[in-house]
Amino acid sequence: MLVNAYGAHAGDQPLQPLQITRRAPGAHDVQIDIAFCGICHSDLHQVRAEWYGTQFPCVPGHEIVGRVAAVGAHVDGFRPGDLVGIGCIVDSCKHCADCDDGLENYCDGMIGTYNFPTPDAPGWTLGGYSQQIVVHERYVLRIRHPEEQLAAVAPLLCAGITTYSPLRHWNVGPGKKVGVVGIGGLGHMGIKLAHALGAHVVAFTTSDSKREAALQLGADEVVVSRNAEEMAAHAKSFDLILNTVAAPHDLDAFLVLLKRDGNMTLVGAPATPHASPNVFNLIMKRRTLAGSMIGGIAETQEMLDFCAEHGIVSDIELVRADQINESYERMLKGDVKYRFVIDNATLAG
Ligand code: NAP
Ligand code: ZN
Repeated sequence: MLVNAYGAHAGDQPLQPLQITRRAPGAHDVQIDIAFCGICHSDLHQVRAEWYGTQFPCVPGHEIVGRVAAVGAHVDGFRPGDLVGIGCIVDSCKHCADCDDGLENYCDGMIGTYNFPTPDAPGWTLGGYSQQIVVHERYVLRIRHPEEQLAAVAPLLCAGITTYSPLRHWNVGPGKKVGVVGIGGLGHMGIKLAHALGAHVVAFTTSDSKREAALQLGADEVVVSRNAEEMAAHAKSFDLILNTVAAPHDLDAFLVLLKRDGNMTLVGAPATPHASPNVFNLIMKRRTLAGSMIGGIAETQEMLDFCAEHGIVSDIELVRADQINESYERMLKGDVKYRFVIDNATLAG
């Protein structure tokens, strides 16, 4: 079946309208009419070929929400009309230790929602900047938020789970001091989630103008990271720092803020490497530096249910498909509070 989409034919070209094919739903597939799709910074990295190996045409988008249009004969869990989400994963091997542990995100055979190999045309997956998607039921998430919030739920499918997973892994809760570096799409969700989990939250930003807004998101304190005095006031005090920055920067400036046994987890994935951290900043206080990639399917459902229960959604700016290129430019300037979400109805016609 042919559907309208928005994508690019080369890394140095803007995204434009195009048509793609979606497979007819197989026995275990769920066919979804996409209502909204968030714009993640990863979409920009991939479609502009900043990351290795982009296949063109490239249709990004892995913060997908919509309604079930049809289901295959063996699908029990979903019915036409259900509100559902698709995040960054549309397939995995289903039998390795990672899949058995519900950590499909770490399966060597994980198939991402775009730019991963598939038997479907054109040979690589195409994402949510499109009218429909067809996905195996295992990777379909149930949305329990009120329908009016649907557009603002979309970013939970990547920005939400990418911050929730490390916060849970490192046991964030009452009595813990947590830093969130970078108040963008991921960072603003990290602040909301760490606050809801009961931690003392400190937001780090390079933008003085985000100070007030960060407090409204749930931060207890805000530090402008360019200000050495403000940074020094938090030396050796954090249990966890969640670093969401999309560009290379000085990691040591944050490592020295961790207390003994503290951890900094990097989720930001810049196109070029950070300068190595000074190992003495790790050795001296048994600090650790870690990474984390999105989250498993069960954990993503847990995060969606946690957010529905606590009334948590993303702060979004809804855009038309023909505003995607302009939205990328504004995202690069940090000019979005805090996530662009595409109204996929604007792909019609
Ligand atoms: P975003 O909305 O653009 O936010 C990134 C934030 O980083 C900006 O708002 C800005 O915050 C800060 N920043 C940007 N450039 C900076 C610089 N040169 N120095 C210091 N701070 C800077 O991006 P996003 O969608 O949240 O994604 C962030 C990164 O995470 C991207 O690299 C993306 O690919 C990656 N990502 C990783 C995963 C994963 O599984 N690990 C999942 C999704 C995304 P302030 O204005 O507050 O300083
Ligand atoms: Zn993403």
